[in-house]
Amino acid sequence: MTELTTTTPPPAAASASASAIPKHPAGSDAEPSTQQMEGHEQSKDTAGFKGKATKPKIRLHAEELRHPSSVSFFTLVPDVTSKLDTALDNIIKYLYTSPATKSEDVESCKKRTWPSFDPSVPPTRSVTLFLRDFSGVAYTTGTELDNDHKEIHLSLPYIKHYPVRELAGVLTHELVHCYQHTAPPKTDDEPERKIPHPPGGLIEGIADFVRLKARLDPPHWKKPQSASERESKWDAGYQHTAYFLAWIEDVRVGEGAIGMLNDRLLRVGYVGEDEDKEKSLTAEIGFWRGLFGMEVAELWAEYGQFLDADGRKE
Ligand SMILES: [Zn+2]
Repeated sequence: MTELTTTTPPPAAASASASAIPKHPAGSDAEPSTQQMEGHEQSKDTAGFKGKATKPKIRLHAEELRHPSSVSFFTLVPDVTSKLDTALDNIIKYLYTSPATKSEDVESCKKRTWPSFDPSVPPTRSVTLFLRDFSGVAYTTGTELDNDHKEIHLSLPYIKHYPVRELAGVLTHELVHCYQHTAPPKTDDEPERKIPHPPGGLIEGIADFVRLKARLDPPHWKKPQSASERESKWDAGYQHTAYFLAWIEDVRVGEGAIGMLNDRLLRVGYVGEDEDKEKSLTAEIGFWRGLFGMEVAELWAEYGQFLDADGRKE
């Protein structure tokens, strides 16, 4: 099953639709000219992940080593493993750390009980980074046989235009897709149960939220300074949703809010959202109301008011 198939737009298309989803071309890894390198395999050491995640096996699949961008890539990113480990550290920090369970912060933990959740890191076993010649920037997929094995495809034509910080940002965004929750797992008890899925813009927004918090936001991103500078929809995706999520985390709710949101996608799923009023009244409590006590439309409106008030202060 190919689950997460997503893309990051190039700067020129940053405001383009979040629904542009390139498909993984079938059989692309079966070309006879392909050179496979597995020299970056991980040890089983889990230090640095606070016992929450096992480091994945990392594979590198470099096609077309003569491509000028392949040379640039290895110059910019001589150690793929450490780049991905840093990205995974940030994912653990910003999506899988509940403030109430931080051991080094016992005193404030006693006072703070919310946001709080019990982090469950997906059991991603391997990540294979493909360097390939295709148009676009990058995308991530699961593999047909086992969704615990992920593939990140990075575009060679894209690489040559960008500095190392931007590549680290793109790799962080894509690695989030290897580790974020989207929906509760199917169970044997309820094989027919319809699993609710969140809007693609939320998934992309969470990936860019981690990128933003890791201070890897690229120069072409633009934080809105007023309500009118926002996109019209909260789930426009990418940086637009990322800045909204960062406001929820940093201003409205507190540290751990987006980790808790990611956790709810696993445990409850994206159920009973506002457009389905009838269902949300009769069935489970809505996703956003269950998390933060209000609908996403109310949060979005408050975010706009905050931007306007903040803009006037400056
Ligand atoms: Zn993405």
